[in-house]
Amino acid sequence: EKVLFNGKMMDREKASFSFDDRSMYFGDGVYEVIRVYSGHPYQLEMHLQRLQRSADELDIPYSIKEQQSLKERVIELIDTNGLTHDGYVYVQLSRGAAARDHLYERHIEPFIFAFTKEMEIPLDQQEQGIAVYLTEDIRWLRCDIKTVNLLGNVLAKRQAADHDCSEAIQHRGDTVTEGSSSNLFIVKDGQLMTPPADNLILNGITRQVVLDLAERQGLPVSITPFTTAELLEADEAFITSTINEITPIKEWRGTKHGRIKIGSVTKQLQTKLRADIERTRTG
Ligand code: PLP
Repeated sequence: EKVLFNGKMMDREKASFSFDDRSMYFGDGVYEVIRVYSGHPYQLEMHLQRLQRSADELDIPYSIKEQQSLKERVIELIDTNGLTHDGYVYVQLSRGAAARDHLYERHIEPFIFAFTKEMEIPLDQQEQGIAVYLTEDIRWLRCDIKTVNLLGNVLAKRQAADHDCSEAIQHRGDTVTEGSSSNLFIVKDGQLMTPPADNLILNGITRQVVLDLAERQGLPVSITPFTTAELLEADEAFITSTINEITPIKEWRGTKHGRIKIGSVTKQLQTKLRADIERTRTG
């Protein structure tokens, strides 16, 4: 199995990176996870554009030109590793290696690596729904950047698992933000609602695709913040992510409890997303 190591294809066992990489000391790096369906990457351009934006926001020197070659390298990696089924590509761009110092210098060479992994679509979860755990969002105020510094997210995920939930739904005070590795949507009186893509959430690629599909369906959409009380009164709720696509929520746990039905709007959007993905499979 090969990995992409600073632009070069390399055996996984031979690839080792610097002790002094800043992603290790400071979580000083950004990443992307791209779905692969039957060997074809889904929404690769959008992911690479978001990687570019994350790098720009963190002042990591990474150019559009490198992005173009990364696109070709990612496709090459998928082919080389024979990822002909479903899986994903993980890409990480770190600021690079330098002696440990909070202050970064701009001449450091960024370091990029990528690997592939097989992973099936979680069809059972998509059909049966999941229980989620409501918890306070303790993350920093630039959640719009996809950085590898994910401590708030991993603590929230563990909390959720400790309450037999598959995902944590985070809120800042009363205002709902997003999952630990997913975006959140609710449906109320036929209207699809999701929090705005401001600094408090990651603007998910799946979120953007779902909003696009909803608009094309003529579904009324409201992109405004909502409260935990509104969340618990929703008719339907689901989360979105690259890995899990659309996953319905069937139960709330945490400070508030309750059950919720998997509704027709969720199912309709699942069907539309599936159709969009199936077009990717055929190349
Ligand atoms: N929000 C967070 C915090 C995430 O980590 C992720 C994905 O991992 C998402 C949202 C969903 O984003 P996407 O649909 O681009 O995978």
